[in-house]
Amino acid sequence: MNIQMVDLKGQYQHIKEEVDSAIQQVIDATAFINGPQVKQFSDNLERYLGAKHVIPCANGTDALQIALMAMGLQPGDEVVVPCFTYVATAEVIALLHLKPVMTEVDPHTFNLTAELFEKAITPRTKAVVPVHLFGQCADMEPILEVARKHNIFVIEDTAQAIGADYTFSDGTVKKAGTMGDIGCTSFFPSKNLGCYGDGGALFTNDTDLFQKIKMIANHGQAVKYHHEVVGVNSRLDTIQAVVLDIKLKHLDSYAQTRNKAAAYYDEVFGQLDWIRVPARQTNSTHVFHQYTLKLDVPEDRDELKAHLERQRVPAMVYYPIALHLQHAFKTEAFGPGDFPISEMLCSQVISLPIHTEMTETQLNFIIDAVLSFKKQKTVA
Ligand SMILES: *Cc1c(COP(=O)(O)O)cnc(C)c1O
Repeated sequence: MNIQMVDLKGQYQHIKEEVDSAIQQVIDATAFINGPQVKQFSDNLERYLGAKHVIPCANGTDALQIALMAMGLQPGDEVVVPCFTYVATAEVIALLHLKPVMTEVDPHTFNLTAELFEKAITPRTKAVVPVHLFGQCADMEPILEVARKHNIFVIEDTAQAIGADYTFSDGTVKKAGTMGDIGCTSFFPSKNLGCYGDGGALFTNDTDLFQKIKMIANHGQAVKYHHEVVGVNSRLDTIQAVVLDIKLKHLDSYAQTRNKAAAYYDEVFGQLDWIRVPARQTNSTHVFHQYTLKLDVPEDRDELKAHLERQRVPAMVYYPIALHLQHAFKTEAFGPGDFPISEMLCSQVISLPIHTEMTETQLNFIIDAVLSFKKQKTVA
């Protein structure tokens, strides 16, 4: 059986005709940059998200960088960021000569919490980047309250959670990435809304920020050849926009399929005492970018991964090293043992295949492979 972490080829087969013809149209029109389909896609994404403005860009890392540039921060200003996340989140902070202030995450949801955020605040804290890791929103209502109280910008990293819904205590429902000042996402092929190359976008409801973001992403110009600020060149190709526009129509059903697979896994793994299934929050839906299990005994995790590989079941560790222990982010402020929860998670987590094309046969095969691990251990 050929099982993959993500089955992009299988997904493409269902939309092949529509995608092929849309791409061909772009080629025929040779409108590779800023073709009308780029605006069409960002309009459709605005509607889907309920966001006032969507600004497409070249990738998710650029989106985060541009968001920080739009905040008008000064070198040395502090930006709070969880240490259990993908490197891009912290990388752009350091790149702009801002100071990434790392924090611990919640051991169950893997996300930043308001308490952890508030503890990291100093008089120099100017922004926070909550990451909606693996597809579930960080608990945004209290995070936004703390940010408001201390006058701190909120940039949501929603690269893994596009389409997730967060419900506020007054019943208001908002999409991931539309709750803070700016939301950033990635359209990397394996993301829940992925294109056929690189892509990304920023979301905001603030018209001033929208103007700034648009200008920064376009060489710092609002009028051609009048460069008001130092910007970057970050665009979404027209070919990527047409792919995304087609896939956007399926995004909710893709999330449903992922949830079905997750529920199937949960039912079996939830019964086992040596494995912990992903925690579900009551105020956020989960779009299962990753289905991430936790094993209490770290050695079990590595052995399980090797065991699965032997049975040709792929499994990944997101993430094996917390950011505060990465050479690139080494400072005197943080060292081993400073964020024990995140460090522990790095040795406990394992993500199983989850995508839009999973069959029951595949799920059963994966589940049997996991179950046979403990049997084998007990016999040994
Ligand atoms: C994928 C990802 C990014 C970066 O996106 P790219 O398009 O690869 O630059 C940033 N943050 C998180 C949490 C991601 O998963």
